[in-house]
Amino acid sequence: MQFINLAAQQERIKDLIDAGIQKVMAHGQYIMGPEVRELEEALAGFSGSKHAVGCASGTDALLMALMAHEIGPGDAVFTTPFTFIATAEVISLLGATPVFVDIDPVTFNIDPSRLEQAVTAVEECDGAVHPLPLPIRKGKASGKKLTPKGVIPVDLFGLPADYDAIDAVADGRGLFVIEDAAQSLGASYKDRPAGSLGDIGCTSFFPAKPLGCYGDGGMCFTDNDDLAEILRSIRVHGQGEDRYDNVRVGINGRLDTIQAAILLAKFELFPEEIVLRQEVAKGYNKFVGDLAPDLTIPRVPEGYRSVWAQYSILADDENHRRAIMEALKSHDIPSVVYYPKPLHRQTAYAALGYVAGDFPVSEEISRRIFSLPMHPYLAREDQERICEIMAEVSIRADNG
Ligand SMILES: *Cc1c(COP(=O)(O)O)cnc(C)c1O
Repeated sequence: MQFINLAAQQERIKDLIDAGIQKVMAHGQYIMGPEVRELEEALAGFSGSKHAVGCASGTDALLMALMAHEIGPGDAVFTTPFTFIATAEVISLLGATPVFVDIDPVTFNIDPSRLEQAVTAVEECDGAVHPLPLPIRKGKASGKKLTPKGVIPVDLFGLPADYDAIDAVADGRGLFVIEDAAQSLGASYKDRPAGSLGDIGCTSFFPAKPLGCYGDGGMCFTDNDDLAEILRSIRVHGQGEDRYDNVRVGINGRLDTIQAAILLAKFELFPEEIVLRQEVAKGYNKFVGDLAPDLTIPRVPEGYRSVWAQYSILADDENHRRAIMEALKSHDIPSVVYYPKPLHRQTAYAALGYVAGDFPVSEEISRRIFSLPMHPYLAREDQERICEIMAEVSIRADNG
């Protein structure tokens, strides 16, 4: 069994993908060819955004979004410690400081009530209100404060964060909101599509994401005309009137035409695949609930739709999780821990001076969580088998 079966999808649209690639080979516009524009138009419509700007990866999408907001040294950007490193990495790459905010224990997304406290703590350089990174704590002595600029909520595992509550804090404090929708394209929040939930939404087309290409790719979404123009400029070395007129410092962040052609083919299936993902998630909810009720299944709050980038459940503790994952492995069933170490405990962020216990919810979830095979073509029998194997571990544990 595979964790994500991309071959089953390829089988369905192989001719369409082949034709798309052949078309690019025939016209030869490998850089910024017509397929890039076509994909941008299709996905702008899909995500309910006025503008879409294709780029080289989800990481570049986030980097470009922060650059468009002119983020740099002296700035504080708030985000979750329970995410993939890319979310925080882009903040650090620009010389700004990531300020972590713990997550909600049910949705695993940033906790808006703690966000308010974190902003106050940064403004007042007060680590007693909220755990702060070392550069800010030091700033208190030297009188050099950081300026709160924005927040990057992550729609983890395909479930949008709570944007109404986040916006309430952000609007009051003059912060921008950049949606990390790398895992959530195809999800929705109160009838608003993922990708359109921040000032800029950023997604990824890494092969394992809900809409993935056959390499790296990403996209920024925005309704703001000025931000869209700046993003397009940053994408091509800060270009102005033309390629050799550079009006700002940018990057080489373009989406390959061939990847855009592949995505256009895959996009044909995407709406149907989103429905199939709901069915797979429902199947897991039923089988886990019936067979292994000691495991905590994911909860989707009222008014949200997850795109189920991952189906992640909670074991009682680290030992319970290890026993289940080993049992699955002995039956050749892969399972993965997203994420075993919250970002504030990563070596890369040792300089931020965070300690164990700073973000207790993220720390506990990282010890208990694991993800099961998840893709639109997962057979119901396979799901049932997975849950039966997990149930056996529980029965063994009950029998001491
Ligand atoms: C995958 C991912 C990214 C980065 O996307 P890439 O295309 O791999 O650069 C950023 N944030 C989150 C939450 C992700 O899952």
